[in-house]
Amino acid sequence: MRKGQELIDFCRWADTILDAEETGEHYLLASGLHSRIHIQLSRAFGNFTVGHAIAGVAFEEIDRLGLAGNFNTILTAAIGAIPLGVALQYAFLRMHKIPPDLAYAEKSGEGYALNRFTLGSSNAVLIVDDIHTTGKTLNALYEVCLWQGAYVVGEMAVINRGAMPLMALEKPASGRFKFSLADYPLADNEWNKDQCPYCLRRVPLVKDGGRIEVF
Ligand SMILES: [Zn+2]
Repeated sequence: MRKGQELIDFCRWADTILDAEETGEHYLLASGLHSRIHIQLSRAFGNFTVGHAIAGVAFEEIDRLGLAGNFNTILTAAIGAIPLGVALQYAFLRMHKIPPDLAYAEKSGEGYALNRFTLGSSNAVLIVDDIHTTGKTLNALYEVCLWQGAYVVGEMAVINRGAMPLMALEKPASGRFKFSLADYPLADNEWNKDQCPYCLRRVPLVKDGGRIEVF
């Protein structure tokens, strides 16, 4: 059984994992690839019960890894991962732990910038993102922390859709600690436009809930 299979099943049940075989549409990813699967985890937090459950799983894993008392700040990327950060604060409260502060970075050119928050040497940070694909967001948020002089305790993605477990991607000398709650590798379900079997079958292509092309 894959890591976090129960969480994946739960996300499917909560309609946050869309599958072309069920929806009759396939999906354009930020990477430009066409995909059979679209994970809309940010939408899970629109439903209080679902978001509450996901944040509870996140807290359990953070606690299991011994990190729960080691950081005082959560850093996320605006906009999609902000509700995850807030839900995680409430999860701490439910477990009678002092909730960490929350800061979010916003897209700025190729990277991210802290426009509304300041971090410094007093901040021990857990970086949190919803979906890990290439690692671009986690890397950008890590750099934000370095620039601000904040200490990064760890980096968490709820779902890792890359082929490798996050821990395996760490360079031992880097001092970085990455983990995911669930692994859901999708390499066999993503294609360039020219090789896409769904385009071949004229299945509509969708980006972020909007239909953009009909073949
Ligand atoms: Zn396609």
